[in-house]
Amino acid sequence: MRDQADFAKNILPFLSHLEEDEAGPDPLQVAKRLGICMQEMVILSRNENPYGPSPAARAALQDVPMHRYPDSRHFLEALSGYTGFPPEWLVAGAGMDEIISTICRIFLGAGDRAVIPVPTYNFYAQAAGLCGAGPEYRPRTADFAVEADVPAGVKMVFLCSPNNPTGNALSEDNVRAVLEETDAIVFLDEAYAEFAGKSLAGLVKEHQNLVVGRTLSKAFGLAGLRLGYAIAPPWIAEQYRRIAPMFSISSPSLAAGTAALGDLDWMRECVARIVSERERMRSMLSCALPSEANFLFLQTRRNSKDIAEHLLRRGIIVRDCSSFYGCGERALRITIGRREENDRLLQEMEMLEEKSIMRIASDDASTV
Ligand code: PMP
Repeated sequence: MRDQADFAKNILPFLSHLEEDEAGPDPLQVAKRLGICMQEMVILSRNENPYGPSPAARAALQDVPMHRYPDSRHFLEALSGYTGFPPEWLVAGAGMDEIISTICRIFLGAGDRAVIPVPTYNFYAQAAGLCGAGPEYRPRTADFAVEADVPAGVKMVFLCSPNNPTGNALSEDNVRAVLEETDAIVFLDEAYAEFAGKSLAGLVKEHQNLVVGRTLSKAFGLAGLRLGYAIAPPWIAEQYRRIAPMFSISSPSLAAGTAALGDLDWMRECVARIVSERERMRSMLSCALPSEANFLFLQTRRNSKDIAEHLLRRGIIVRDCSSFYGCGERALRITIGRREENDRLLQEMEMLEEKSIMRIASDDASTV
């Protein structure tokens, strides 16, 4: 009788070197552990839009033909209206994660190298690694900009603006400098562009090596439906369509996404509220850096894991950034939630601060 080990030897060896991606604590498990219901949890760990999608997106789910394979044309037309790019320059996928994986599969193979300025979104390294490529992590400058020089032979460069988890947007000059320096493909992730109120997607027209990734998970409030897209030069978009799974976005997601793109007022209203809350929160949290996204990056005095664990016990989930490569042990990322959720977080942080101040007075400040 053969057992698992006989078959497990078929797993590709390089997979054992891959870091697992992680999205922080699972809210349902935390709620169970604390013995409270999900409604009492404050989930500020996944950069979601707390207001959800346009009511038009919900309504669109009613008449979706479920016995037919999905047809993405209406969605692509709606994207074309939103982005100003013709459909030949657009590709859609099941979340931007699928876009990232597919672009990697076009350009990266075994032994290739991909430059990743860190800290940043962990999935780039995973997607590149799954193609057999090696991430080349590069530290950022003090203000989290990226170094323009890219070593010869590198196949892809991953930029993220605004960057997850640091919240800063890259300047146009910085991105142009990278694009002009290299013959690698540059993937510019603009998952949070709507919160910054600006985008560098226009550069795709001038640079045949630029792909800009976007998502409906954030400003459009559709994280659960998995809708992402990219703006790419037609030669890349064509390759994308050749290799991507043909029907990866479900009909309900496409219908809701099309409707959400038809109600930009809703999205803009959500963004305005989130940005206003972001600025209020930032003014109250001295350890928060300026942010152009729907989250704040906090540089903490104490170990971030301990703070996140303390908040977790109070039913508040935030993202301890120690799992972000190159982030260190003293950074938290806090998604901007509804006002009352944000207030609960502020209250807890205030108490934590009081505790640490008391501790400074009573024992050695170096532990705080
Ligand atoms: N890029 C960044 C920077 C992100 O933070 C995320 C999600 N957290 C994604 C891409 C993936 O988004 P999606 O939900 O569209 O897969």
